[in-house]
Parts: sequence; structure tokens; C-alpha cells
Amino acid sequence: MITLKTLIHLPISNMKILFYSTKRFEIDYINNANTNGLTIVFTENALALNTVEKAEGFDAICIFTNDDASTEVIKSLYSIGVKYIAIRATGYDNVDIETALKLKLKIANVPEYSPNAIAEHTIMMMLSLIRKSKITQQQIQIHDFTINNLIGFNINNKTVGIIGTGKIGSVVAKILNGFGARIIAYDIKPNIKITKDYDVKYVDIETLCSTADIITIHTPLNQETRYMINDKLLSNMKDKVIIINTARGGIVNTNDLLKHIKSNHLGAYGMDVYEYENGIFFFNLSNKIIEDKQLLELIENENVLVTPHQAFATVEALKNIAETTFYNFNSWNSNESSINEILLNSKMSNTEKKLELTINK
Ligand code: NAD
Repeated sequence: MITLKTLIHLPISNMKILFYSTKRFEIDYINNANTNGLTIVFTENALALNTVEKAEGFDAICIFTNDDASTEVIKSLYSIGVKYIAIRATGYDNVDIETALKLKLKIANVPEYSPNAIAEHTIMMMLSLIRKSKITQQQIQIHDFTINNLIGFNINNKTVGIIGTGKIGSVVAKILNGFGARIIAYDIKPNIKITKDYDVKYVDIETLCSTADIITIHTPLNQETRYMINDKLLSNMKDKVIIINTARGGIVNTNDLLKHIKSNHLGAYGMDVYEYENGIFFFNLSNKIIEDKQLLELIENENVLVTPHQAFATVEALKNIAETTFYNFNSWNSNESSINEILLNSKMSNTEKKLELTINK
């Protein structure tokens, strides 16, 4: 049980921020973006119930995709006086927004940092799988230079299905339009612009899954999208379809997926995200035994390409993530709102939020 205190958001002369889950590759970008000299402390530890105490004495914390900001963690953060949470990522499926907002914590994310980074990684995975580069590299290692096993196909004139045509999905559509693909898409909020610009045709998810030669996923993970790709939809997919998931692992039911990969119904699967990636992706486990049998099966399958949640990892994206994160902190440090604050069930775009902030100033 926690008692509700009144959280007062006064200007803070020098906000103290604890960065959870800090990785070596991001430290320079974070330091360079801290132009107002806020006090920042890094920890490699992920946020979890047993690491909340590290945030004692801090006004704010900064977290990443695999930090656990579920209900009890949020309540504990609140009880030790943390007032602000900045997520240095787009997705916030790991945060109990409702509880945080009830406790008047302010939360912001980085809604857009470089959709091209993720879109380009998606296309890299697509081409790698189509052109069987995993098998090529295995053969080359043993000096087998034959190409009998390496016959791919052209993307040109193939049907590609994009699930989720927001910022990332739209860039994927633009690139695939350049390849001359036939693009079909499914989204709860169709984007009319891409129907005109890139000749995208919206269809329902069943039609998309049963007609596409390649399927790529770009929705957030939420209650509606969890296990959206399951045995039912997989069973109706074309023989040898290629699926790419650079969105969130939980959108695909891994168990069902493995069944269709092992039976050779699916042609290939490219995964930058994995349902149970927490505690695995971003860590060097080369001297440890991985207990997750499903992941091992996926890694070992020649038709599965695994990348460890690296789609965002470009210099441009890291710079933008750090700068937007400090825009969020600097706004709060001067007792102003950030346009990136997450409001529950908010259907507002950033432009609408900007307008509202201007009106309310
Ligand atoms: P976005 O909000 O711009 O687009 C998401 C789209 O999904 C929207 O058009 C929305 O209408 C649609 N959508 C939401 N619920 C849906 C549903 N139930 N069915 C169909 N469509 C639905 O987000 P974005 O910037 O394009 O990012 C998409 C996701 O990619 C993020 O939520 C994040 O999880 C993931 N991501 C991954 C990486 C990575 O490194 N692998 C990096 C950034 C983002």
C-alpha cells in the first residue's frame, strides 16, 4: 500500500537523473546532449523492483526498452520521490502508464528519432533472407563457393504486406515502392498519403496474410497487437512466405511461428526483437549457457536471421534519441511540459499536442 502524496513539479535548479540500463555505445551521445549540465549518473543495471532503490535521491530516471516499469516498480519509484520518467525509445509497452499518471509522475518518450534507421534495417533483413546470406556465410567459412543452395528471388513485382504504416512502416513502403513491389497494408488508422505516394493498397489483416509473399511488422505492442501473428493467421499464409519483425517480439507468438518454420511452411523469419529478449539481447552471453530452447532453435535455423534489437542503432538515431531525451528533461527542469509527454489513451499527434501546449501557455 502506498499513500498518495501531492507531487509538486517546481523548477529544479539542477535535476538529478539516473540512467538505467546504460550501454557503452550510448554514453558519449548522452553526455554530448546534456548541454544544460544536468546531473546524470549511469548504471548498467536494468530497472526492476530490486533496483528501484538505486534511484533514491534522484528527481528523474531514464529507461530503455527492456527496463521493467510495471505497476509495483512505478509505485516504488513514486514512494522514493522520483517525479519524472524519460523513456529513451519509441515503444513504451514496458511501462504502466496508467499507474504512473494516476500518481502524477510525468512520462515522456522519443516518439520519432529516425524511422529510416529501423526501416533500412528491415530491408537489410528482408534482402539477407531472400538472398540466403546466412547460408552463404556458413558455406564461405568452409570454402564452399557453390551457389546451388543460394537461389533467391526478386522483390520487384512481389506482394509485400506491411502491418502498421506509421512512421517506420511508411518509410518501408517508400523504399519498397522503389523496388517495384506491390504493396498492401493493414493498419487501424490507414495513411491516405502513402496510398497516393507509394501506391499502397489497404486490406484487412486476413487478406494481407494470405496474399503477401513478404510480411513486415511495424505496430506497437499493446493489448490488441499481442500475439496478432498466431497459428490461425500463419496457417493461411502463402507457402514460403518471409516474415520480418523489427517491432516487438510479443506481437508474434513464437511457439506458433517455430511450428511453421520447422515444417518449412514459412520460407524465412527475420527477427530484430524477441518475445523473451529481456536479459538476453544487449548482453554478452558468450561465456554463459542460454536456457531458452526456443531462442536456440531460432538461432540455429538456417532460415531464421536474428539481430539483437539493433535496428535503431545508427549514429543518427542515437544522436536524435539523446537530444530528444534531454529536450524532455530540460523542459521538466524549467517546469514546462514536453510535447513528448505520454497521456493515457491520447490520440493526439505531436502537432496537436504542440498546439495545445501553446494554447495553454
Ligand atoms: P507509429 O506510432 O508511428 O506507427 C505505428 C502504427 O501502428 C500506427 O499507424 C498505428 O495506427 C498502427 N497500429 C496500432 N495498433 C494497431 C493494431 N492493433 N493493428 C494495426 N495497426 C495498428 O510507430 P513507429 O515509430 O512506426 O514504430 C512502430 C514500432 O516499432 C514501435 O512501437 C516500436 O515498438 C518498434 N520500434 C522498434 C525499434 C527497433 O530498434 N527494433 C526501434 C523503434 C521502434
